[in-house]
Amino acid sequence: MPEVKQEVKPIEVNYLCDSCGKGMMASCGDMDATTGDIEHRCLICDHRQTFQWRAYPRIDHIDIDEKI
Ligand SMILES: [Zn+2]
Repeated sequence: MPEVKQEVKPIEVNYLCDSCGKGMMASCGDMDATTGDIEHRCLICDHRQTFQWRAYPRIDHIDIDEKI
């Protein structure tokens, strides 16, 4: 298989706290390998929330001309 190369740009994806709406959620533990649960907490109000199979903040890559 030949290599296929494509230019991409990195974007940062954050999740705003559902409780206070101001703080960013940040992962505060390791992912549970069975359930995919990752515990997060708000950096401002300490609200806890669990996401599955995705952590915040994270860096995604999109096509160079793709709009965010
Ligand atoms: Zn909050």
